[in-house]
Amino acid sequence: MKCRICGRETSEGDYCEFHAKAFKNLKEKYHQWKKALEMSWKDYLSEIAENPLTGEWAREVAQHQIRRWSDENVTES
Ligand SMILES: [Zn+2]
Repeated sequence: MKCRICGRETSEGDYCEFHAKAFKNLKEKYHQWKKALEMSWKDYLSEIAENPLTGEWAREVAQHQIRRWSDENVTES
């Protein structure tokens, strides 16, 4: 398997250890946000992707998730 973002070899899942860790952090932060704000996962990802303070790994993961989402929407229609 190869990371879907950077192509590094990975033993499991879609992401290498760096991107997998960033993705895990994103999900944890989302759960914290959700308590305070009514925000969908997709809106949250857009927020992360556009925030200049977001780290590079997290931004790449957010962008990849958004792309995957739009690809899936395309196949549905
Ligand atoms: Zn990666």
